[in-house]
Amino acid sequence: MGNRTATQPPPTGGGDLLNALVQAVGESHVLTGSGSGSGSGTPSGTGLEAYERDWRKRYHGRARAVVRPGNTQEVAQVVQVCALHRATIVPQGGHTGLVGGGTPDDSGTQVVLSLQRLNRIRELDADNLTMTVEAGCILQAVQEAAAAHQLLFPLSLAAEGSCTIGGNLATNAGGTQVLRYGNARELCLGVEVVTAEGQVLQGLSGLRKDNTGYDLRDLYIGSEGTLGIITAATLKLFPMPAATLTALATCTSPHQAVALLALARARLGATLTGFELMNAFSRELVARHLPQIPQPLWPVSGWSVLLEQSDDEGPAQAQQRLETLLGAALEAGLIEDAAVASNLAQARELWHLREAIPLAQAEEGLNIKHDISLPVSRIPSFIESTDAALQAFHPGCRLVNFGHLGDGNLHYNVQAPEGAQAAAFLHDQESAINRIVYDAVQAHGGSISAEHGIGRLKRDELAQRKDAVALGLMKRLKAALDPDGLFNPNRVV
Ligand SMILES: Cc1cc2nc3c(=O)[nH]c(=O)nc-3n(C[C@H](O)[C@H](O)[C@H](O)COP(=O)(O)OP(=O)(O)OC[C@H]3O[C@@H](n4cnc5c(N)ncnc54)[C@H](O)[C@@H]3O)c2cc1C
Repeated sequence: MGNRTATQPPPTGGGDLLNALVQAVGESHVLTGSGSGSGSGTPSGTGLEAYERDWRKRYHGRARAVVRPGNTQEVAQVVQVCALHRATIVPQGGHTGLVGGGTPDDSGTQVVLSLQRLNRIRELDADNLTMTVEAGCILQAVQEAAAAHQLLFPLSLAAEGSCTIGGNLATNAGGTQVLRYGNARELCLGVEVVTAEGQVLQGLSGLRKDNTGYDLRDLYIGSEGTLGIITAATLKLFPMPAATLTALATCTSPHQAVALLALARARLGATLTGFELMNAFSRELVARHLPQIPQPLWPVSGWSVLLEQSDDEGPAQAQQRLETLLGAALEAGLIEDAAVASNLAQARELWHLREAIPLAQAEEGLNIKHDISLPVSRIPSFIESTDAALQAFHPGCRLVNFGHLGDGNLHYNVQAPEGAQAAAFLHDQESAINRIVYDAVQAHGGSISAEHGIGRLKRDELAQRKDAVALGLMKRLKAALDPDGLFNPNRVV
């Protein structure tokens, strides 16, 4: 095992699926749950829960097996075995996705293909500012490996201690530094992919220029595991900034926050690396459920902006620029108050406050999530009119509104009224509330998915709202690259 080429026939000629998977990856890496029947892997009913239930606890499926290959050739063999046995595959990385794309359905027939054992850093080329890593590498481990060479891998999000590079690329993740460095797509130069035929596409490349035909890399990035399995990627690195400063400011409206963003862009230029917005209720949820997190500029009644500046010249220069900006903003009446972190620990606490919002809202109960993208200029009018429309529709509903204002991405989530049953609220109101929010998004020239993807959660919404020609082309691409519907069926398209 392990040295067959990708184009040779699969290791079994049609025998039992589980035995063939065991042959491909070894018995200890095929996990089966209660009643699955291979007799291998974890004992009945244990160990599979983490693979079968999503982070939000919204989707709970049942897998035929969870398979954990250890290298690209084993991934190719698993794909061949599953194709032969007509078992559909659900690729899975860190399983932190928020749209149900990596959770098996409840048929008990799907094979979860976990990439977590593909976790090697293959190469770091400091002169070329690139790093080639396997898909199961945890994002934080990649950041740390770059930092060990005084280099920066700038993708950063609250799930970075658990999510994987493969999942980041499959969902084209965004995070907190998009306004300076772009989404995961912009941070990737090449991918290695196992196709539906079990072949290995060797697309790893450290080239910043390569015009040799269709861009297959960009086809797989953002395809959410529906076109192929990403097994490795070559990532872009950047020089580590000489200083990074973080500040928190309060203002009374999204209008002011957008005006502050324009001022910060003008004053800080490319050194502006983060610009996050939080409404008062988001911060109240953190105070309620995670009281150990410090809350500067508290109590808060309006909006808060978390602002980060990364300077190449050094701490003194950065401090002076940031303080001048905040002084000008106070003078212009754009902000009410501001606090600049005076050391790394304080900066981390400010980011922790922002990144704790998803955890705090999960503690409050299920809510109706909207990860939306809008032109920055239209965000204030979107918030004003949609808040009003929702209150008119369901008085007392609570809006957890936060996000990456710098790149136009809001997490505009609707929580049940205080004291109301969250599950019943979701069940009864979700589709009507989605219609109000997504109609408003479209009216403001936005997108129904900014950075989390489509998965299962937004598949039907996409079918209704995507341009018909684009949707038709997407379906033709899916049929061409995965004609038997092996990968992640019923997700995205
Ligand atoms: C607290 C929290 C905060 C978050 N913040 C952000 C944020 O700021 N920005 C953001 O963009 N996202 C955010 N997310 C969402 C999520 O973390 C990202 O989408 C992340 O990129 C998913 O990576 P993963 O390894 O967990 O992927 P999974 O959840 O395992 O998979 C996600 C999708 O990709 C597919 N997939 C996974 N690995 C592969 C592979 N190797 N090849 C092909 N397909 C694959 C799966 O089938 C699934 O459809 C957040 C999530 C949480 C829980």
